[in-house]
Amino acid sequence: MSQIKYFSTNHKAAEVTFGEALLKGLAPDKGLFMPNAIPSFSPQELNSLKGNQYYEIAAKVFSKFLGDEVPMADLLAMTKDAYNFAVPLEQVVDRKYVMRLDQGPTASFKDFAGRMMGRMMQYYLKQKNENKLILTATSGDTGSAMAHAFYGLNNIQIAVLFPKNEVSERQRKQMTTLQKNVQIIAIDGKFDDAQAMVKQAFSDPDLACLNFTSANSINIGRLIPQIVYYIYSYTQLRKQDSDELEPVVFCIPSGNFGDMMGCVLAMKMGLPVKRILVATNENDEFETLMKTHTYKKIEPSKNCLSSAMNVGHPSNLARLIELFDGNMDENGVIHKEPNYKEMDKIFVAQSVTDEQTRETIRQAWAQYHIVLEPHGAVGWKCVEDFIAKEKPSAEQLLISLETAHPAKFPQAIIDTIGVDPELPDSLKEIESKEEHYDSIDGNYPTFKEYLDKRYGWRK
Ligand SMILES: *Cc1c(COP(=O)(O)O)cnc(C)c1O
Repeated sequence: MSQIKYFSTNHKAAEVTFGEALLKGLAPDKGLFMPNAIPSFSPQELNSLKGNQYYEIAAKVFSKFLGDEVPMADLLAMTKDAYNFAVPLEQVVDRKYVMRLDQGPTASFKDFAGRMMGRMMQYYLKQKNENKLILTATSGDTGSAMAHAFYGLNNIQIAVLFPKNEVSERQRKQMTTLQKNVQIIAIDGKFDDAQAMVKQAFSDPDLACLNFTSANSINIGRLIPQIVYYIYSYTQLRKQDSDELEPVVFCIPSGNFGDMMGCVLAMKMGLPVKRILVATNENDEFETLMKTHTYKKIEPSKNCLSSAMNVGHPSNLARLIELFDGNMDENGVIHKEPNYKEMDKIFVAQSVTDEQTRETIRQAWAQYHIVLEPHGAVGWKCVEDFIAKEKPSAEQLLISLETAHPAKFPQAIIDTIGVDPELPDSLKEIESKEEHYDSIDGNYPTFKEYLDKRYGWRK
């Protein structure tokens, strides 16, 4: 097999290796990196994965995309270190399951992508004998997931800015109790101020020697890990008594569409995916696109109960359009229409209101005694409607994703079903740990001075 290279969705940058795409993040022409060929799993290979551990399947998926860039033994060491937690598959009714992606250190599915991206970056930086400083602003959850993902790694420092008065105590503690290579900085200001400071630092020539990278959600290193849990869950749950691969339906609560892109790639690799239910909150730009074939971002995005999905212009949409033979630029302008006919065969796009989200949490508890949090409930609402409308057989395998732990959204759960979900151990531990962070005002010059004191760009 020839080595896969990575091209930009804007088609104005040279193709690069996986390692280069990983360390660059965004392509130089502002497009997103995509593989120039999609590797596949034969039915025999998929069959042979049954009984494999999660980390073993993860290493096999990565090796398909990396060719011989990284030896298998090194891949296995990284995936074993990244995926040291369970991936529960909870039966709801018949062959309908909820996959809980909430057992990582920050109890969010973002741990899956972040932890592997961190280890891959460390691997390539060590080889090049280089160091990078990850600089990121957070309004709460992404910052803690990234801080945990890079915590304790070599060749990488991470600095996270957060608006002092806009994150919850629990969110703050998830970041400030780590230390080592993790630096947390509170600023006097809003999230937008923190983000503006990060942006300015990235383009400040004085700071070039700090070798910044952003590690944000469009990095190809975050996309590939999100293929794995579709393949894993399928190989664990499919009927084992036949060599034929049965079709599966996935339901994915979606915001920036990284998670959903993982499923589309798994399908293109040979996973027999019949339908993908794309569940969004009241930010319904994708449902509208699929219905009307016109795209309009939602600006500003609407604030909904499922807060991690408050996205009015999904940053991975350009990748999806590219995979269906269309073209969209970084501003959301479609230059070439995708093949909507093919997309209609696969996707069921549905927007869910907050009211329906609450009702679904109530209903799922009353009917099946499962606890869903708002993001997972947006998904489950689409599952209920899909079942009512298409009446799949009881035998149809369906897997709906739960992307966060209910204890991260206690108020929504208490209000709807009167249950106060127990904190997972990872979140319990931080309650008693000491916090460490610095506070600065919201002015860029102060931040620049701070970066010199902490990381020494004047040297
Ligand atoms: C980020 C996030 C999502 C959305 O995932 P995308 O890949 O951005 O579509 C859903 N649920 C939770 C809890 C998240 O943190």
